[in-house]
Amino acid sequence: MTSIDIDAARLTLALNELRLPAIKALWPRFAEQADKEGWRAARLLSALVEHELAERDRRRVERHIVQARLLPGKTLATFDFTAVPALGETVPRTVSGPLGLSKAHINAITAPSRRMRAFACRAMGDSWVGKGANILLFGPPGVGKSHLSSAIGLALIENGYRVLFTRTTDLVQKLQQARRDLALESAIAKLDKFDLLILDDIAYITKDQAETSVLFELISARYERRSMLITANQPFGAWNTIFPDPAMTLAAVDRLVHHATIFEMNVESYRRKAAQNAKGSGRPTKTADTSDNNAA
Ligand code: ADP
Ligand code: MG
Repeated sequence: MTSIDIDAARLTLALNELRLPAIKALWPRFAEQADKEGWRAARLLSALVEHELAERDRRRVERHIVQARLLPGKTLATFDFTAVPALGETVPRTVSGPLGLSKAHINAITAPSRRMRAFACRAMGDSWVGKGANILLFGPPGVGKSHLSSAIGLALIENGYRVLFTRTTDLVQKLQQARRDLALESAIAKLDKFDLLILDDIAYITKDQAETSVLFELISARYERRSMLITANQPFGAWNTIFPDPAMTLAAVDRLVHHATIFEMNVESYRRKAAQNAKGSGRPTKTADTSDNNAA
């Protein structure tokens, strides 16, 4: 018996209508194989459905990567963990004190989300993102804060989370505009769709941006609900220029660190080291990376 006792053209139209492109593309080949090898009907159906789901996941991740505006090429695979002091493999997942950095720790904080379909999960991470906890990355310019935060963002997206990477001043500028349009609340609410907001270079906030306090409102709105990853080349003690007054600085820091993992990346600038190595080996010095958005 052949499988062509149905109207193939109508089936293709129906699969279009149902928005099942993977099944539409695959069913003729799968059906032929099923007939040849005598698959049970349930096996054919399940194989087609699995492919549709996998394809849908792939497209969603692709879409989320575009929306996240990550730094191109900055991945965990291209990050040299030996350049930052590792504290060993057994660091706790969430602490309130400063920490060194290990690859194992980064792997732990980028584990798959609970929302992912069970069959697609490799390891159900005890997720800090889902709980609205934060990561704070401190260190002087050039030590890899932006690279690492973008790479963490990418790993989380691949594991089913939604992420937005932005320079802090760019986002604050947008929120200031929203405030002028009397739409600050809804602008902040729109950012709720991102499980993680990466604010790069918080210390580069200008005086005028600090005075509007939109950043404080953002931090307060996300507190204990949605996660943030913040990079800074200034310790908390110097954060008074980021907010309108010391009381607000204290309140903001208090909310940020309440459920936070803090990394201190106090190592030599990777950029400077790379330039020196290039000079030493007689090769032309690699100029500053264009994707490096650090003005310092
Ligand atoms: P920061 O944000 O701390 O100023 P960046 O993340 O912009 O530093 O890093 C500066 C440059 O050096 C980037 O091109 C980045 O990819 C590279 N870099 C920094 N640290 C590392 C590292 N540990 N491994 C690989 N590349 C690194
Ligand atoms: Mg940076």
